[in-house]
Amino acid sequence: MQLTFCGAAGEVTGSCFLVDTGNVRFLVDCGMFQGGRDADLKNQSFPAFDPTTIDFVLLTHAHIDHSGLLPRLSMKGFKGSVYTTQATIELLDVMLRDSAHIQVKEAEWAEQHPHRHAHTLMQPLYQLADVDDVLQLVQAVTYNTDVHPHPEVKCRFVDAGHILGSAVIEVWAGGKKIVFSGDLGQPQRLILRDPTPVQDADVLLVESTYGNRLHKNLDDTLDEFVTAIEKTLHRGGNIIMPAFTVGRAQEILYLLFKLTRQRRLHNLKVYVDSPMALAATEITLRHIELFNQEAKDMLAWAQERRKDMPDIRFVQDANESIALNDIKHGAIIISASGMCDAGRIKHHLRHNLSRSECSVIITGFQAMGTLGRRLVDGVTRATIFGREIPVRASIYTIGGLSAHADQAGLLHWLGQFKQAPKHTYIVHGESSTAQQFSEVVQEQLRWNATVAVANETVSI
Ligand SMILES: [Zn+2]
Repeated sequence: MQLTFCGAAGEVTGSCFLVDTGNVRFLVDCGMFQGGRDADLKNQSFPAFDPTTIDFVLLTHAHIDHSGLLPRLSMKGFKGSVYTTQATIELLDVMLRDSAHIQVKEAEWAEQHPHRHAHTLMQPLYQLADVDDVLQLVQAVTYNTDVHPHPEVKCRFVDAGHILGSAVIEVWAGGKKIVFSGDLGQPQRLILRDPTPVQDADVLLVESTYGNRLHKNLDDTLDEFVTAIEKTLHRGGNIIMPAFTVGRAQEILYLLFKLTRQRRLHNLKVYVDSPMALAATEITLRHIELFNQEAKDMLAWAQERRKDMPDIRFVQDANESIALNDIKHGAIIISASGMCDAGRIKHHLRHNLSRSECSVIITGFQAMGTLGRRLVDGVTRATIFGREIPVRASIYTIGGLSAHADQAGLLHWLGQFKQAPKHTYIVHGESSTAQQFSEVVQEQLRWNATVAVANETVSI
């Protein structure tokens, strides 16, 4: 049996693994590469294999770096089924449509301004019709239940605690058990349950986004978050929060509720400027059965005390979004994309980055090559829509909210295996991080581990 690392090998995005048993060929994830020129080229040349030969796809979760090239797969001839959880299907519908929309818009913009943005693709990777096509192929699976996507393949999805509907996938094929961690959540985090332990595997692929570091604990994170908000409101600025619309946006709202409940923040005016964040919030509220107990209690409490809660407005149409540019102080604006490289967040940064009384609170992972990463790295000037803007706003990077397990969280999950997998491949981490985590796994767990190499095929 052969396994090919088509993406997320030595990098964090583009998650896609091809398994070929000789009789069956399937993918686990079909994610978009994100961040810079290289990503555009990789997306454009995807797939490197013939999609008509793929029998089915197993999808760990809805994030675009795991799902974003599914429409391209069907556009190029894939006709099989895509198996994933019900919550993921609902999120996918929203996210893939948004992805197609952003690409069409950016391609149009690049066509009008070729000299300003030379690396943007003139051709979108896919269009809405391709999204419709691939959404016809999805099949819902239930957590902790055996599924047979093919007579020779059995798989089971278990909760990964990363975003709503996210799964670790156990696969039995070709006489072996392969486990794909997908993205793993940090134990004891907001809203979601902890990742489900897995007991064994012949071959394990484990993510390593934060495999070389420890997150701040939640209490310190909340203190930083409160300080950043209070200081900015006090000096008369706005707070801009780039957020992944699925997961992070709901967590930030949850935090604002929690801190209001604790009387640490008061009278907040919050604008969620992303139609997709509204859709994702509605989907989240349809799946309370997936929440942890604290989140269930919190929701019940908030429903009783509506008048004490933060004033939250979901901004839908573009004119309303543009009107936010006129607000000079007192607003918390949550917008997307989470890495600041597309979408309405770019407009909010354009209007607030140069104002020293404002701040940007970054709470999510920022891939290399993205505007978000440059802000975290402390650039003094940023280019947005081809125009250079001085960065005078305070940039706060708050790490403790990560949707990904840190090194201790990853080791905790690995530590629950009853026996070591015969081989562990470290994926979904920037190459030095993956290398460091691989060494930790070898030294601390005494497991046989290597870092996956992009486009390499291994026999398993
Ligand atoms: Zn993810």
